[in-house]
Order: sequence, then structure tokens, then C-alpha cells
Amino acid sequence: MNTATQSRPVEPGPTTLGTRPLAGRVALVTGSTSGIGLGILESLAAAGASVAMNGLGEAGRIEAELDRLRGAHGVPAAYAGADLADPVQCRAMIGAVQDRFGRVDILVNNAGIQHVAPIEAFAAEKWDAILALNLSAAFHAISAAFAGMKARGWGRVINVASAHGLVASPFKSAYVAAKHGLVGLTKTVALEGAEHGITANAICPGYVWTPLVEKQIDDQAKSHGISRERVIREVLLAQQPNRRFAQSAEIGALAVFLATDAAQSITGAALPVDGGWTAH
Ligand code: NAD
Repeated sequence: MNTATQSRPVEPGPTTLGTRPLAGRVALVTGSTSGIGLGILESLAAAGASVAMNGLGEAGRIEAELDRLRGAHGVPAAYAGADLADPVQCRAMIGAVQDRFGRVDILVNNAGIQHVAPIEAFAAEKWDAILALNLSAAFHAISAAFAGMKARGWGRVINVASAHGLVASPFKSAYVAAKHGLVGLTKTVALEGAEHGITANAICPGYVWTPLVEKQIDDQAKSHGISRERVIREVLLAQQPNRRFAQSAEIGALAVFLATDAAQSITGAALPVDGGWTAH
């Protein structure tokens, strides 16, 4: 038994469960101007964390969203803009959040894109773009934030992978490769952080109700010539046994739990939130 670790006193405040278990923590969520990332950002803010938003979007809408979060949850909220396909901007984003808030305690790598095509027709630039954002950006962000987490003896890395980090589907070669890679990166970071109070986990959602998915329903209904309801059941949720979309807030609730000290022994895990998809 590692007695040094076991005898470390339990910190009060931010590390105890309560209505605001993350009060005093600083969280950065990439790709949080929309969808799952925004849901996670809001859940972390509701749990008391100061939050940094990243992602693409129109400046006025981003500022309005930050104002809403500040008002609703009474926490500091700032924007950390960066095109995460660029490693230099990715690392600069971590520096900017550290300058603004003093540190990054909770890093959620969520930004991601998708492209669907048979492998023989899969454009090389699409492959590169997906690998850059869905995998390499997480590496650069973690690499830049890790020294600070180590120095403070506390950190949370939460990577939003996918059911496609655990199983494959046809025509999604880059996405599946990147998400499997992200799960592998998560395990490595978990091992490197284990003795420094840092955990690293991957959340692996199935279909989640986001603007991106909502738009696909109308497109698919048109191209298949079937109703929205049939698209949902027979196309999108065909693989998802519970036949329902998760909500972004459900992913946010898991991220909050992983960030608390109640989850301090959960590390290196890839946690499906997929209605049973990967139980097949
Ligand atoms: P979304 O399109 O609603 O959000 C993507 C976010 O990434 C946005 O904030 C966007 O601005 C940002 N982004 C895109 N390119 C960027 C870039 N170059 N630099 C910085 N930010 C950039 O998508 P979503 O559905 O919320 O997906 C979020 C994550 O969840 C992705 O990693 C996705 O793979 C994963 N995921 C989604 C689902 C789902 O059903 N929606 C399922 C499994 C996994």
C-alpha cells in the first residue's frame, strides 16, 4: 500500500460532494459553443466551476451565451478562441486560460468533426482534418496543461470519444480511427497521471441530440423519402437498443461526476453512454 498517498488529508470544499462540488475549480471545454460541449460546459458551471468556452461561432452569440451562463450559475465564464486543427493555437489556448484563471484543473477535449465516405473515396484532406481535430488537438491540449496539473497534484482529463471509439461502422474510417486513438491516448495519460492526483477518462456517447444530429434527420428523411420518425428509429438509432437520443446534459452529468473526488479512482476508463450500442 502506498501509505504516503493514503495518509494525504481529504481537502475540504471543492473536493467534497454537494450541490456545488466543483466550486473553486477551473474547467476548459473544447468545442463548447454548441451541442455536447455546451451541455458539458453548462453542467460544470452549474456544479460551481469557473468555465472557459472554446469553439467556432459568431462573437455576439458567444458573448450572449457566456452572459447567460454567468447569470444562471454565478460563475466566471470566458471565451478561449482557437482553431484546434492548428497545434500552435491549441497550445496557446491552454496558456490563455491559465493567464485568465490561473490554471486549468479540468480539461474536456470535446471538439470533433465527422465525414462519411467509402474508404476508396475518402479524401485525404478529410482524413487529415479529422485526425487533427478529433485526436491530435487532444494530445496538444493535454500536453500543454499536464505540467500545471502535476504541480498542483490534481487534474481531470475528460476526452469525449464515441461509441466509435469502441466499435466501428463502415464509411467512417477517419472518425473511428481517431476515436479509437483517443481512447488509447486516454489510457496512456491515465497511467502518467495516476500518481499525481490526475485522472483521465473517455466518455463514449452513442447518438446524442445536438443541432448537428437534428439537421441530419431532415436531410435523411428527404433522401430516403421517409418520415422523421422512421429516420430516427430505422436509420439513426438502428444500432442503439434503447432507441432514444441521449441529451447533452446526460453527458454533462457524467463529466461532472468524473471531475469530483468521488470518481478519483476511476481512471483510464472508456465509459459508454450509448443506450446499449456497444453491448451488442
Ligand atoms: P457539434 O457540431 O454540435 O459541436 C462541435 C463543436 O466543435 C462546436 O463547438 C464547434 O464550433 C467546434 N469545432 C469544430 N471545429 C473546430 C475547430 N477547428 N476548432 C475549435 N472548435 C471546433 O457536435 P456535437 O455533436 O456536439 O459533438 C461534440 C463531440 O461529441 C465530438 O467530438 C463528436 O465526435 C462527439 N460525439 C457526438 C455524438 C452525437 O451523437 N452528437 C456521438 C458521439 C460522439
